[in-house]
Amino acid sequence: MLGGLPKSSCRVVRMPDQDIFDFIIVGSGTSGGVLAQRLQHAGARCLLLEAGKYYKTDTFPENEVDYSAQLFWGGGLEFDTQCTMGFLRGKCVGGGSIVNQCLLDRFDNVALDDWKAVSGVDFFTAEAMEPLYAAVEADLTLVTLPEEHRNRNAHLFVRGLERAGIGWAPLRRGQSDCATEHGNDCMPCLGGCRRGSKQSTLVAFIRRAEREGLTIVPEFHAARIEHRNDGVTVSGRNGSGAAFFQGRRCILAGGSFGTTQLLLASGFKECLPALGRGFTMHPQYMTFAEFDEPVDAHKGAFQTVKSADPGLRGKGHKLENVFAPPVSVAMLFARGGMELQEFMLRYRYLACMEVAVRDEASGELAIDRKGRLRVRKQLTAQDCARRDDGLRTVRGIFESLGAKRVFQSPLYFGLHLMGGCAIGTDPTRSVVSPDFQVHGYKNLYSADTSIYPNAPGINPALTCMALSHRLAVLLAQR
Ligand SMILES: Cc1cc2nc3c(=O)[nH]c(=O)nc-3n(C[C@H](O)[C@H](O)[C@H](O)COP(=O)(O)OP(=O)(O)OC[C@H]3O[C@@H](n4cnc5c(N)ncnc54)[C@H](O)[C@@H]3O)c2cc1C
Repeated sequence: MLGGLPKSSCRVVRMPDQDIFDFIIVGSGTSGGVLAQRLQHAGARCLLLEAGKYYKTDTFPENEVDYSAQLFWGGGLEFDTQCTMGFLRGKCVGGGSIVNQCLLDRFDNVALDDWKAVSGVDFFTAEAMEPLYAAVEADLTLVTLPEEHRNRNAHLFVRGLERAGIGWAPLRRGQSDCATEHGNDCMPCLGGCRRGSKQSTLVAFIRRAEREGLTIVPEFHAARIEHRNDGVTVSGRNGSGAAFFQGRRCILAGGSFGTTQLLLASGFKECLPALGRGFTMHPQYMTFAEFDEPVDAHKGAFQTVKSADPGLRGKGHKLENVFAPPVSVAMLFARGGMELQEFMLRYRYLACMEVAVRDEASGELAIDRKGRLRVRKQLTAQDCARRDDGLRTVRGIFESLGAKRVFQSPLYFGLHLMGGCAIGTDPTRSVVSPDFQVHGYKNLYSADTSIYPNAPGINPALTCMALSHRLAVLLAQR
């Protein structure tokens, strides 16, 4: 069960014109950051609302426990109704882009063709997406991680994949100056990059927009939206109580959970039957392996390579070179006392690989009577077969590399939360039109990951930025 919403305090008050924003953007993450910068730069008066706090590079929490508690919803981890899958989502100015790994991939034709077929949206083609990707990439520093950045975990990954005849490729990451060659470790930047190197939307977009006059209100939890012909009122709570803002238009950028929950709590389900449907998450399964020699998988650039193999793409999963910080690893294998101590003494000897499944199961996002989000999702037989195939491959790879023992994380995770407000041409099966307008509500828009019509099987953030850029261009033209 996820965090509850405050009771509505929605009042429509006639405001003086200067207090009405051209755009209210709810959520300051991957989508909201791009939209705020683009629209503010185009001359609009924008308000960026964010439930989380506003941290700067020198004020990010200093350790893993503090950053989990302060930068994530649910104090670190949220769960589905069955408590079988854990969800991670950022809650701070910059949202997911502050806590993510900033691996920025374009979608391939497999993902785009599938989206086009299921949504009926005709710009889901490589040609139409090309200028959108190029426009956001132009504002980011992107690095295809070179061989010298690979740590031993990555070397094991590459050697293992090559032995198994699986194709691989270096990852492309948004970063400007990580200084790993001078001994800097990237793992702590999952709690906010203190070097300002990671290309979060805070670094690449929001600060620029702020210099151009963007108004940011952090620690404001939007609870309800009222749509009228002449504008939108967003009401909610900040530290000192109920508050509301008025805008000519509102853009929902709260992510899959945030945007869906806000629309559900505001009573839109009645007119939008597809609201809350189609939740996907790329379930991720970590397999650890213990070696005789230290692996130091937490050192340097801890994630530098991925599988890139048409065979695995066809099978519906991919393999990633990943690791997790010590408190998270300890919590996954939560044994106490001496057992935990001995386990953690082996932390440096652990390697890790992850299977990320392109899930076809369509979960459902709903709210309970108190407005709290409920996530229901059951993997299909095909999802489980994809998972099992990936896990078998990983175990085989680790065994071929001489691992002393191979063991799996007892919990699996959703880091790529998608859907709930799918884009599409048919208002009975989708929530947002191809113009990103909520069907039937002319002043309400969204281009965040809630609009994803199904799981692409590829890192979602760059496409979310590209679609947000497209929405900003459409709105600026109007
Ligand atoms: C640990 C981790 C690693 C990841 N690594 C990668 C990666 O390497 N590459 C990649 O492509 N993707 C990655 N992702 C996923 C990626 O970060 C998300 O897909 C992306 O950020 C989603 O963008 P969004 O704009 O839809 O939502 P978000 O970025 O989540 O932004 C939503 C914002 O809205 C705010 N909000 C929500 N509800 C409300 C409300 N009611 N009122 C006010 N504010 C609200 C939230 O606090 C949040 O700041 C990762 C995610 C995690 C958690």
